[in-house]
Amino acid sequence: RRGPSTPYLEGLNPEQRLAVETTEGPVLVLAGAGTGKTRVLTTRIAHILATGRAYPSQILAVTFTNKAAREMKMRVGVLVGEAVEGMPWLGTFHSIGVKLLRRHSELAGLKSSFTILDTDDQIRLLKQLIQAEGLDDKRWPARQFAQMIDGWKNKGLAPGDIPEGDARAFANGKGRQLYAAYQARLKTLNAVDFGDLLLHPIRVFREYPDVLREYHAKFKYILVDEYQDTNTAQYMWLRLLAQRQAGSVNVCCVGDDDQSIYGWRGAEVDNILRFEKDFPGATVIRLERNYRSTAHILGAASHLIAHNEGRLGKTLFTEQSDPDDPKVKVHAAWDSEEEARGVGEEIEALQTKGHALNDMAILVRASFQMREFEDRFVTLGLNYRVIGGPRFYERQEIRDAMAYFRVVAQPADDLAFERIVNVPKRGLGEAAVRQIHDVARMRGVPLLQAARDLVGTEEMKPKPRAALRTLAESFERWQSQIDRVSHTELAEQILEESGYTDMWKNDRSAEAPGRLENLKELIRSMEEYESLRGFLEHVALVMDAERDEGLDAVSLMTLHSAKGLEFDTVFLPGWEEGLFPHQRALDEGGRTGLEEERRLAYVGLTRAKRNLHLWFTSNRRIHGLWQSTLPSRFLDELPEAHVDVAEDGGGYGGYGRSAGQPGRPNPYGRSRFDDTSFSNSYATPGWQRAQRNRTDATDRNWGTRSGHQAERIGYGETDSG
Ligand code: ATP
Ligand code: MG
Repeated sequence: RRGPSTPYLEGLNPEQRLAVETTEGPVLVLAGAGTGKTRVLTTRIAHILATGRAYPSQILAVTFTNKAAREMKMRVGVLVGEAVEGMPWLGTFHSIGVKLLRRHSELAGLKSSFTILDTDDQIRLLKQLIQAEGLDDKRWPARQFAQMIDGWKNKGLAPGDIPEGDARAFANGKGRQLYAAYQARLKTLNAVDFGDLLLHPIRVFREYPDVLREYHAKFKYILVDEYQDTNTAQYMWLRLLAQRQAGSVNVCCVGDDDQSIYGWRGAEVDNILRFEKDFPGATVIRLERNYRSTAHILGAASHLIAHNEGRLGKTLFTEQSDPDDPKVKVHAAWDSEEEARGVGEEIEALQTKGHALNDMAILVRASFQMREFEDRFVTLGLNYRVIGGPRFYERQEIRDAMAYFRVVAQPADDLAFERIVNVPKRGLGEAAVRQIHDVARMRGVPLLQAARDLVGTEEMKPKPRAALRTLAESFERWQSQIDRVSHTELAEQILEESGYTDMWKNDRSAEAPGRLENLKELIRSMEEYESLRGFLEHVALVMDAERDEGLDAVSLMTLHSAKGLEFDTVFLPGWEEGLFPHQRALDEGGRTGLEEERRLAYVGLTRAKRNLHLWFTSNRRIHGLWQSTLPSRFLDELPEAHVDVAEDGGGYGGYGRSAGQPGRPNPYGRSRFDDTSFSNSYATPGWQRAQRNRTDATDRNWGTRSGHQAERIGYGETDSG
């Protein structure tokens, strides 16, 4: 029953082919990384179109990011040519949600011209509502509440649905009422937030069965990629569209429970496990052949993920195993600067051998790690692009902090002054700023000078005047300090005294901790310069660096945004306890957080096709203090057979690596990586200290882990040395 001309089916393995050709009825493809799940979805779309089963407008295809959507459109285009034109329903949950809502806005009580609020708007609005309730918005921060509302919306909960306990958790039990007031206010403003893009369509589908039936008739085929990361609201939305009374439900979801990495944002991996119940008679297809990576990479990744308990478990194999394939390389560095230098050298070496920069990626656990690499690449003149977010120095918190520093170093920098005059909020609204501008223009002086002049007059209202006086005096104080304290100390002082750090500390949003980390990294990076001015010059140059998106460039991104992507060469820096696994997951104590970190590690490892480099440093500056760091437990969880400890310069050359030392033929000590970087000459005391802390913490994970480790590798603590 194959179509007359189906060249796109060629090369698929039998299971993939089954997944493509089982067009009717529910299909779940549950398979590990690199087994061709996304390829199956793309080919399936091509097949449906090529065999005339549906028009492009009758296919609903959901991807996780806009980038993935564009890529899928392109890949289908390659397979079927122009037929892909006008696939209007291929996109993310949000982009499809907007489209649905524009069509049915009146049923949701909106005009079709509704606006979509960003987080800032949302928070401003919530703050007004909190204050209108007579509540102290310092005690009950709007950002925290915004976060709670997002959580409820991810679970598909309207104000009336939220559980009693949750409702009590905010503002002495006013949570529900405030949430309802917020929704009402959005309606008057003819606005929606991101969560509404799913919730409104869900409500419309429920309340207007005719509308839902219209879509049942319209969407003949539904496809979803990365199904393991759908949250409850997305799942409800999908089920409404996919579960119909009569006729077949042609829904195909693909995913991998081992790659569920958005639990912290409300994703429910259970959705994938429930599929067969939700869609009785579903065909479940498992793909086991990995086409992406070498046997070494796959071996390392499979071995690592096997340490998770809560998983379905699956087989993965590859036929790509050439004796010449490089093993996974683990490198040690003294600190993050050396790490960046080592990665840079490796990249240049590959480039010399003819590898394209486009085929290389650096995937970090936390975005503050990017700074060191970006600086290094600028120095080397290596082209790079940051995916899924701004470059380090372009981030909001970095720009804000830099603006303070610029005004201190260069009081006539009006742009910088304007940026922070009311950040954090200090009651200097538009009117006050206009007044400052007027004075500046009249007298031909910089804004800061105008501000100083203004506070000496009666022209301004008392409140803003007091605020402006404090600010002007602060700048005077900071300027007077320039030659007295070190520039890093001054920078810290500025961020503290201006209230800027506190602003983010009081911020309950998911991004706030990352922003604080970035600020610390900013201060850290200043140490490498002699003076504040020298540092500012450096940043100006970095900001000005050539960037041409079309050029060959190394990709730099977080592990979270690397989902679904693949590169020839992948660098994974920062494999240290406290960074990866992240301290927040360790602090939680339980299994959940740690297992999600391990899945993230699995996602990272499986992005590589051929060359995979892991790095850890012996020292990292955390919270302003240098600390000896321990290699990540995930390094210990890699199988020896597929891993090489790099001998190439880097941290080892200079820091007394244990291999090659007399009496230590086995480079793997008690824990193979704990010892190698810390041996003898340098950080032994630090390492011992860290080791003690770790044992003192009576961390269950650590306990079971070392036992497990000793058993698995076949030597215990007593064997080493
Ligand atoms: P992830 O879980 O990381 O999202 P995936 O399961 O979606 O991975 P794909 O990205 O679809 O995997 O495929 C991985 C790589 O293997 C791609 O480069 C793809 O083109 C290739 N591939 C998949 N199936 C085949 C096949 N039958 N023959 C040759 N190459 C294939
Ligand atoms: Mg994929």
